[in-house]
Amino acid sequence: MPEIVVVRLIESDDQSHFHVDLVGYHTDHITTEPIMIATERAISLMLYERLWIKTPDGEADLVSGKCSVCGHEPYLRTTSDAENEEKLQSLTEA
Ligand SMILES: [Zn+2]
Repeated sequence: MPEIVVVRLIESDDQSHFHVDLVGYHTDHITTEPIMIATERAISLMLYERLWIKTPDGEADLVSGKCSVCGHEPYLRTTSDAENEEKLQSLTEA
């Protein structure tokens, strides 16, 4: 079950904030670099695989949602995000 370890951010259209564009995880097959997948692909994967991140409190599952600033969809957040919080954006940028 993939732990998301890195993200790639992209500026919103009005350049006022950032969106998560890609998320990355390690696989058994390729150990050097994380596999980076787009938001849409991650959401399809989440139909049958759990994607999650480590948080200070433990683990949080990724969920399909909306950007807390502009409502952009499709979008990835985590189950432990507060209303205006996006824990995914605190991961290392790849
Ligand atoms: Zn936004």
